[in-house]
Amino acid sequence: MNCIFCAIISSNLPSSKVYEDNVCVAFMDIQPVNPGHVLVVPKNHVTDLSDLPSGTGMHLFQIAQQVAQKLPDSNLRCEGINLILAHGEAAGQEVFHVHLHIIPRYKGDGFGFKFGPNYRNLPQREELDTIAAQIKQQLEE
Ligand code: 5GP
Ligand code: ZN
Repeated sequence: MNCIFCAIISSNLPSSKVYEDNVCVAFMDIQPVNPGHVLVVPKNHVTDLSDLPSGTGMHLFQIAQQVAQKLPDSNLRCEGINLILAHGEAAGQEVFHVHLHIIPRYKGDGFGFKFGPNYRNLPQREELDTIAAQIKQQLEE
């Protein structure tokens, strides 16, 4: 398997680490959206959310929250923070070893979400209810 993040975790590739424990490692993104962009990555190779054990997921979030809480005090321009996880190519995932982005944000940084043409057409309540029922049913199965 040719995985960049596994190579970083095994120190076969260099990285700038900010945190490490038995379960995960957090290091600087090589192409940061803004200075201070950190990735939190499980040590075990897990492709995406589908095969991420929930305990590991909780741990990744816990560490991401701790890092995020320290960013504003770290001499960085950080007026806000996005936590982002891309699951699958359609969602923008490029490295198929699951990871949580911690992205410091500030007004005018030029980063943002791009919305589709229908974004401003709010769905009817009926449609929201139908979709909610479908998801709810899946959760109950
Ligand atoms: P994705 O699009 O999969 O959510 O994000 C992958 C992230 O990994 C990108 O932000 C990219 O800059 C980062 N990345 C890709 N290769 C490397 C690398 O070799 N080292 C580090 N530190 N980050 C990388
Ligand atoms: Zn990997």
